[in-house]
Amino acid sequence: MSVIIVGAGPTGLMLAGDLAAAGVPVKVLERRVEESNLTRAFALHARSLELLAMRGLADGLVTQGVQVPEVRPRIKGRELVFNMRHPESRFPYVLILGQARTEAALEERARGLGAEMVRGAAVVGLTQDGEGVTLTLAGGRTERADYVVGCDGAHSVVRRLLSVEFSGRSHDTRIVLADVLLQADLPLAVNPFIGDDGAVLLPPYGNGWFRATIWDRTRQGVPLGEPVSIEEVRDALLRITGRDLQVASMRWSTRFLSERRQARHYRAARVFLAGDAAHVHSPLGAMGMSTGLQDAANLSWKMAAAHRGWAPQWLLDTYESERHPVGRMVLRMTDLLRRLSEAPAPVRLVRPYVAPAIINHPRVSEAARMTLSGLGVSYPVPAGVPGSPLAGTRVPDLSLVIGGRAARLYDHLGDGRFVLLQAAGADTGGRAVGQPWHDRVRTLDCDGPLLLGKASTILVRPDGYTAWTATYPDAARTREVLRGWCGRA
Ligand SMILES: Cc1cc2nc3c(=O)[nH]c(=O)nc-3n(C[C@H](O)[C@H](O)[C@H](O)COP(=O)(O)OP(=O)(O)OC[C@H]3O[C@@H](n4cnc5c(N)ncnc54)[C@H](O)[C@@H]3O)c2cc1C
Repeated sequence: MSVIIVGAGPTGLMLAGDLAAAGVPVKVLERRVEESNLTRAFALHARSLELLAMRGLADGLVTQGVQVPEVRPRIKGRELVFNMRHPESRFPYVLILGQARTEAALEERARGLGAEMVRGAAVVGLTQDGEGVTLTLAGGRTERADYVVGCDGAHSVVRRLLSVEFSGRSHDTRIVLADVLLQADLPLAVNPFIGDDGAVLLPPYGNGWFRATIWDRTRQGVPLGEPVSIEEVRDALLRITGRDLQVASMRWSTRFLSERRQARHYRAARVFLAGDAAHVHSPLGAMGMSTGLQDAANLSWKMAAAHRGWAPQWLLDTYESERHPVGRMVLRMTDLLRRLSEAPAPVRLVRPYVAPAIINHPRVSEAARMTLSGLGVSYPVPAGVPGSPLAGTRVPDLSLVIGGRAARLYDHLGDGRFVLLQAAGADTGGRAVGQPWHDRVRTLDCDGPLLLGKASTILVRPDGYTAWTATYPDAARTREVLRGWCGRA
């Protein structure tokens, strides 16, 4: 089986690396010849860092970025604290890091694993039949593969060629992005300022540089093509934050229109859509790139399973049934943040009094933290496999002891295989029970307990979610579950 990925953004690069790691012949077609000069996404949330940790990339990226443990919204002078110190994760913060760094790490991995990268290849045509997909490139050349994944961004040509509806709307919300050097002191936090004139987000890149995301109510009519001047940024920051943040320099800026749209389907026969090609939304919440990385992690092991010939019939379809609801939830969350920022006059009057009550409410703030970080994502149990406690939820990076040596679960994920964890004393036949599935299941017999609920046995999906947990199941039951998820031995 061969796969072509259209688009070498973060989603396509993550997917390419995963497929190559699993031995799937994969080619990436990218329209751009040069690296993009757009810095775009600035944040990696905890779940994205966990997914990158499974691929051995997180530690290197963490050393390049700034770890920010809280969000400190100021609403007309009132300062609130929203905690992002995730106790359940090895990454208890938001990592502020320009998108280009994440893309560079993903591209290096994908190339190193053997993914073929073709730049200057713009896809303009697509047809598919029962056996494969043919893509036409600008210039007339064609490429063919068994499957194609459109990771070609918000204006996806693949999505258009499939005639998949991109339903939603453009908010008439014009946003300015600018990387600015500030001389004023701001705390180590994502710093949102919400004022009568608009909203500003100021996360720190380090060394005094900040990414300013500005929604200025008074300048919504400005054409998107008009360059952003440092004076415009200074004026907007002063009016909206009510403080002179002393903008000393600006190294990059752009203007764009925020949209809220989602593809009605993520799959059309042999073609899939992922990342911005499948969903776009307001940058408030900084969830765009993270959602694309999760899409890739969800799809890659299912395609690898199809390549190896063991995927149950239903497996590839779960990409859409699992990721479409997550995309919808991200659209809702980011839209809520947008509405809070853009509130009409009557709401603005009460906002400084109502917002603290909402943000400080433990249930609300916990739900928002889990949604923004991606740690709260879980998937329904597919029909045809047994349910169990915790099935479908994220598995943390468990500390394990294997053969007397300390180990971490995530170091054993990332190559498209399941992990069958068995605690000491679990009467499941040890490694022997997983042996017939060894090409798709890595069995880890642990010296101690597993420290996840009461489970003595956990089948972990290749993307780090629970397939099944049990307390001292017999070997026959474990085999039945392996057959359900991983096909016949
Ligand atoms: C101005 C702007 C600011 C943003 N700010 C933030 C932010 O602050 N935080 C955040 O989390 N997210 C932000 N985002 C969103 C974030 O950048 C995206 O969610 C992320 O880049 C999505 O990655 P992707 O790989 O799905 O798509 P993209 O990064 O868009 O990559 C798509 C790739 O496909 C290529 N391509 C397109 N058409 C074709 C074709 N026909 N043939 C071949 N190749 C093609 C493109 O050249 C591109 O390289 C922002 C987006 C924009 C536009």
